[in-house]
Amino acid sequence: MSNIKTDCVVVGAGASGMMAAGFFSDNAKSRNIILLEKNNTFGKKLLITGKGRCNVTNNCDINTFMSNVVHNGRFLYSAVSSFSPYDTISFFESLGVAMKTERGNRVFPVSDHSSDILSALKSHCNKKNISFYHGELSDIRIVDGHVASCILKDGTEIECSSVILATGGKSYPQTGSSGDGYRIAAKLGHTVTHLKPSLVPIDVEESGICAVLEGLSLKNTALDLVRNRKSVYSDFGEMVFTSSGLSGPVVLSSSAHAMAGDTIILDLKPALDEKTLNTRILSDFSKYSNKIFINSLDDLLPKKLIPVIVSLSGIDAQKKVNSITKSERASLINCLKNFSFTIKKLRPIEEAIVTSGGVSVKEIDPKTMHSKIVEGLFFAGELIDCDAYTGGFNLQIAFSTGRLAGISAAKKYEVL
Ligand SMILES: Cc1cc2nc3c(=O)[nH]c(=O)nc-3n(C[C@H](O)[C@H](O)[C@H](O)COP(=O)(O)OP(=O)(O)OC[C@H]3O[C@@H](n4cnc5c(N)ncnc54)[C@H](O)[C@@H]3O)c2cc1C
Repeated sequence: MSNIKTDCVVVGAGASGMMAAGFFSDNAKSRNIILLEKNNTFGKKLLITGKGRCNVTNNCDINTFMSNVVHNGRFLYSAVSSFSPYDTISFFESLGVAMKTERGNRVFPVSDHSSDILSALKSHCNKKNISFYHGELSDIRIVDGHVASCILKDGTEIECSSVILATGGKSYPQTGSSGDGYRIAAKLGHTVTHLKPSLVPIDVEESGICAVLEGLSLKNTALDLVRNRKSVYSDFGEMVFTSSGLSGPVVLSSSAHAMAGDTIILDLKPALDEKTLNTRILSDFSKYSNKIFINSLDDLLPKKLIPVIVSLSGIDAQKKVNSITKSERASLINCLKNFSFTIKKLRPIEEAIVTSGGVSVKEIDPKTMHSKIVEGLFFAGELIDCDAYTGGFNLQIAFSTGRLAGISAAKKYEVL
């Protein structure tokens, strides 16, 4: 068992931890800091974000940002207004990463490589007073209500007067974020709210249909999540069928509100109201007047979807198009505008993009990220009970809270 001394320990070299360490260093150059990570490498989760492209942030103003936060947006106000999505873009550009904005204001590195974002964050941490330490935090020792040291799994003790816990959530545990921070925060007296998956694929009762359509991605779909005949969430964008249900951005975002028994209604032709869609179908039917029904939908639908919609419409697939009745057309339109699925269950937290729930925001000062319970303890990133929709908002939460925790921990030394 060895004994090490430093001023501050940042636990977790993910998006929020690397931000925290770099900003601590910039603001407390005369103080030493250790960035502690249990994996052999930094930013394992960051590397897989945005399917390896890293959707860094969302190019939007603070009000739009807040409307995309599902839980505890108000708590984030100080952190995000002092380091906004625009600041994130400038920050990475200042570190030499060119950025681009895509559909839905999603921001990515021009290279489409999340490794460029990780390299930039590593270079941000490449400062004289930051030491990297490979080890797993198992406990934080408190003396007289104040942080005294970090105890690692191998017995090493790191004496310090502040700790920034940035251990991430519980999803994708193979990346290192296996929920350690929740246990440690709870042991120190913090409330950890109910943890559940968010931004997670959804399994549906109609899994047979989904299995047939597996892999099919639809770019322009309107989604309505319905409970007891009332809409609880609606969105527009891309979705994809999985072997047992639905996924893709609009479905993932809807999962933040979804529960078993809810209905997901997909409108496959959201740009056309029923009347216009009817006119469009009539025009296709007249173009293919000598064909049978199943061979007449090539202009309207992706190939894979045609047999499914034909079967759901109840119209004989072999029927000549010119003999399809008005009421049969109405049934087809209904299938296209109300392609419905009953939710069986959300996939488990291990498959979620983020964890919903976490260290209660009531016990953290929103202006500093400092614990209201333990002196010298700060929180950053997904560990906190805040989560948002897809679109770059969750990484922005990690960057803003990480930066604020780093600056606040550094400032604490000025008043000591
Ligand atoms: C597949 C996937 C894709 C995603 N894509 C996007 C996207 O494109 N845009 C977006 O905004 N969000 C995305 N997210 C969400 C985003 O990645 C997270 O919200 C963000 O990484 C959280 O950052 P963090 O620093 O809080 O935690 P993490 O990035 O999870 O980092 C926590 C770190 O702490 C370390 N650690 C944990 N416990 C200990 C311990 N006891 N001792 C030492 N170290 C420890 C872990 O090993 C890890 O390195 C995605 C998530 C997933 C799973």
